[in-house]
Amino acid sequence: MRFAQRMTRLGTETAFEVLAKAKALEAQGSHIIHLEIGEPDFNTPENIVNAAIRALKEGYHGYTPSAGMLDLRQAVARYVSQTRHIEVDPDQVVITPGGKPIIFFSILALIEEGDEVIYPNPGFPIYQSMIEYVGGKAIPIPLREELDFRIDIQELIDLATDRTRMIILNSPGNPTGSFLTREDLEALADAFREKDVVFLSDEIYSRILFEGEHYSIASCREMQERTIILDGFSKTYAMTGWRLGYGVMERMLAQQITRLMVNSNSCTAAFTQVAGVEALTGDQSAVDEMVQTFKQRRDRVVQLLNQIEGVSCATPRGAFYVFPNVRELKKSSAELQDRLLQECGVAVLAGTCFGKFGEGYLRLSCANSMENLEEGIRRIASVIERIH
Ligand code: PLP
Repeated sequence: MRFAQRMTRLGTETAFEVLAKAKALEAQGSHIIHLEIGEPDFNTPENIVNAAIRALKEGYHGYTPSAGMLDLRQAVARYVSQTRHIEVDPDQVVITPGGKPIIFFSILALIEEGDEVIYPNPGFPIYQSMIEYVGGKAIPIPLREELDFRIDIQELIDLATDRTRMIILNSPGNPTGSFLTREDLEALADAFREKDVVFLSDEIYSRILFEGEHYSIASCREMQERTIILDGFSKTYAMTGWRLGYGVMERMLAQQITRLMVNSNSCTAAFTQVAGVEALTGDQSAVDEMVQTFKQRRDRVVQLLNQIEGVSCATPRGAFYVFPNVRELKKSSAELQDRLLQECGVAVLAGTCFGKFGEGYLRLSCANSMENLEEGIRRIASVIERIH
């Protein structure tokens, strides 16, 4: 079989590879603690599950409009208008199977060969993968611990050239849990308002924030029309497997992204869309409880990691990961990832799974019980004691 040349440029999400290795060890009888995968360990709230069951019983079995059902687009438009303090019309909303396709489609629709796209590094690996897949030039903006893993705005301004076509933001961010302040975003908006640059603002963790208030670059003056907001249901409502997300964007772009939906998925599953309406408009207490639980785990995990000699861990402000610094151990992140899995059965991700600026760090997901997190860190400490 001869593959298209472009396939050599397509990356992947290593979390799934580590998960596969961990599962193989499990099949051989090892007891593995999974701290690698980024999905809430909660069930989808019952009111949402019931809405989906009702929808199936009521006959929501067919195709829907490719951009999504009007009810859901209206609910999303209302929700995003309220939370971002902007005016969103249902025509500016495209519903997709998960938030991920918005990354794929936005880049396919907007990036020509040779165009430059600035993206956060360490960051969600799909950004770089997709930019390179379409022949764009992926320009990393380093996120450094000294700046709480926020973007150095001046550095980003200096990285931009005449070829810069898109800037990707992710706040709260994966893997660092960093958070862009309103001041950061206003400064960015001031620098790029007059330029022909589109912002892809990945706000999938917007509700999983422990301190401060989420702010979107779309809320800055005149920035809504040059911003694509990516958000969805996977993280907020523990619905990763349902595949339900959306993009909010300028109308003409929404039509182009809808054409990509027609050409790929036709539409998102109907009954999950009905459930999405319930998620946005129904009782939100399960979300608040989940966020509280993530916060308690975060505090405990940060405390325990900081007790390990050779490890220091900043306190993330959002999302559900911690990103400890392990530079003092003088081993590569990849080696530590392998050794922790092999020597103590704890699956974590090397910081470099999120790009080269993740070297010297590990990512642990707090999407596991407190008991498992404590046991996992106890095991990690025992391996690190041998190394240090
Ligand atoms: N963006 C970021 C930063 C993520 O971490 C993830 C999932 O891990 C996604 C997007 C994709 O979310 P979904 O499962 O809704 O496609």
